[in-house]
Amino acid sequence: MTNETDYGFDTLQIHAGARPDPATGARQTPIYQTTAYVFRDADHAAALFNLQEVGFIYSRLTNPTVAVLQERIATLEGGVGAVCCSSGHAAQIMALFPLMGPGKNIIASTRLYGGTVTQFSHTIKRFGWSCTFVDFDDLDAVKAAINDDTRAIFGEAIANPGGYIMDVRAIADIADEAGIPLIVDNTTATPFLCRPIDLGATLVVHSTTKYLTGNGTVTGGCVVDSGKFDWSANDKFPSLSQPEPAYHGLKFHETFGNLAYTFHGIAIGLRDLGMTMNPQAAHYTLMGTETLSLRMERHVENAEKIAAWLEKDERVDFVTYAGLKSSPYFERVAKVCPRGAGGLFTFAVKGGYDACVKLVNALEIFSHVANLGDTRSLIIHSASTTHRQLSAEQQEAAGAGPGVVRVSIGTEDADDLIADLDQALSKATS
Ligand SMILES: *Cc1c(COP(=O)(O)O)cnc(C)c1O
Repeated sequence: MTNETDYGFDTLQIHAGARPDPATGARQTPIYQTTAYVFRDADHAAALFNLQEVGFIYSRLTNPTVAVLQERIATLEGGVGAVCCSSGHAAQIMALFPLMGPGKNIIASTRLYGGTVTQFSHTIKRFGWSCTFVDFDDLDAVKAAINDDTRAIFGEAIANPGGYIMDVRAIADIADEAGIPLIVDNTTATPFLCRPIDLGATLVVHSTTKYLTGNGTVTGGCVVDSGKFDWSANDKFPSLSQPEPAYHGLKFHETFGNLAYTFHGIAIGLRDLGMTMNPQAAHYTLMGTETLSLRMERHVENAEKIAAWLEKDERVDFVTYAGLKSSPYFERVAKVCPRGAGGLFTFAVKGGYDACVKLVNALEIFSHVANLGDTRSLIIHSASTTHRQLSAEQQEAAGAGPGVVRVSIGTEDADDLIADLDQALSKATS
């Protein structure tokens, strides 16, 4: 495709990055199930290793099937490049890796996927990194938390477990002023509902495990670069702006311009951390992206119907869906995710913890699993599972208190889902 930017989202989600296989004409992207690639000759091999020529060396670094997915996600997000990895959590480490060093810190929203809170609270400390969690609705507090060692701000566009929408533009302005990148986890919104780069984000991360794949088959992650950040504007990002000792002194920004961060992610991130996506996983996710907009429209339509029904039900205390007029984030939906508030939300069952557990057990169509973004409707009691490692205060701050359940609304018939919730709520509250 010559000028992809002229095409609409529905066309790009099928075609971006892909072309008929040059060797066989295969119309669907082949699964290049190979570890290595034959060099034309010794000069070709040297040029590839010197990053003077772009090509395939070894599948820890690059693979043709994975490369198609990278180009597709980058295009859908409006970025210049992307690096796929083995999971969403891998993508988060990969995203931070070029920016950080011992003693450096990030600022993150209090409203995040539970696993991310744990990764940022504890695990990153092993690298000498740290994280300060701040309520992103308090912009003064975000500004006040930044210091000379801060290297990024991190938040989720539509936050898991649901109901919170980040004011991406306002946080991006703060990051800009501080000369640091804003990283947005766009997993639960997807580029169909929200385009963080258009709102000022520098980097976007995904758990492709969720809506991008769409049917709960494979784990994966992706880091997308907007190509808009000037890594040499200050001395905060020496891995990108200065000679990189891990690549015989190569200056990534000077050499690769707006692709510096993406090249660093492959040449150093994947090379040395090895959190590589395999070609099978890329294949499943490519299949998923082809129908992304169709699924997201139905996820949103169903979530709106079901949230409205639950809100009126007397067995339910409250519903946190940002698509409801009662939500404090309703106004923000139009600004941040104009095509809808996603398919994920929480609701509180009268009767608290015990009623939540009974509800989860009584449901028939909804599956009780630790996943989201599946065509199937899913439910989980976050406080006893995904957010279990968090303190009581962290659970409340994240919107995952003991009296709420999180649902990921699927693409089934909304009436069937409502009937299932109806019968289970009766059992849970009788
Ligand atoms: C699932 C999820 C992650 C982690 O992704 P994995 O693929 O499970 O590693 C990160 N952020 C959000 C918002 C998620 O939903």
